[in-house]
Amino acid sequence: MRPVGVFGGTFDPIHYGHLRSAFEMLQALRFEEVCFMPCGDPPHRGKTYANAEQRLRMVEVATSGQDGFIVDDRELRRGGPSYTIDSLLGLREESPDRALGLIVGMDAFLGLPAWHRWNEILDVAHIVVAHRPGWKAPDIGPLGDLITNFGTHRVDDLHSATHGRIHIHAVTQLEISSTEIRDLVAAGRDPRFLMPDAVRDEIENSGCYAREIL
Ligand code: ATP
Repeated sequence: MRPVGVFGGTFDPIHYGHLRSAFEMLQALRFEEVCFMPCGDPPHRGKTYANAEQRLRMVEVATSGQDGFIVDDRELRRGGPSYTIDSLLGLREESPDRALGLIVGMDAFLGLPAWHRWNEILDVAHIVVAHRPGWKAPDIGPLGDLITNFGTHRVDDLHSATHGRIHIHAVTQLEISSTEIRDLVAAGRDPRFLMPDAVRDEIENSGCYAREIL
């Protein structure tokens, strides 16, 4: 059984930065699948702009048709704050012997110590960090220690244990962010080529990022 990548995010909206990183991880790390997991009520980020149903729908249309991409809506169904550790424990219970790789961008990794029960994550899953433009891997502090103690450059290490390693993986740098896309749409501009056309259609049809006229 090959590892499953778990890619959480607000996906407000999903874009090619997410999709290309996930695809490169799927291939280079020889994951069985990458599971996109939109979060419901993100504890660190305040409200989302598109609602849960719209964000889920955008993730579904963006990933459909790609072998190995799957969508898991457990955090949207659960209600209350979305804690990654709870989702990982749920996946672990469903597949005790399967390696899990939590995929995060470098910016998200740097915020890890603020996550609920963050120091339990490596007891359940590996952490796979995607480089993002402008962010550098920490070499001091709790995360620097974590990388020193558990970091590995070997993809095989993610296959031979079910959890417990950190792997930093260079992906094609696409300087796209959901915030910029929302601003662009709110300003009446077209987000084409930053995301699949099907996601752009969802944004257009739902009007979810249109600026409110007061
Ligand atoms: P926002 O601009 O609202 O902060 P975002 O574009 O960072 O959103 P999220 O849904 O918050 O998107 O990100 C989910 C995960 O994807 C995080 O781990 C984040 O680091 C990663 N990620 C986001 N954009 C990129 C990108 N362009 N390249 C690689 N990883 C990314």
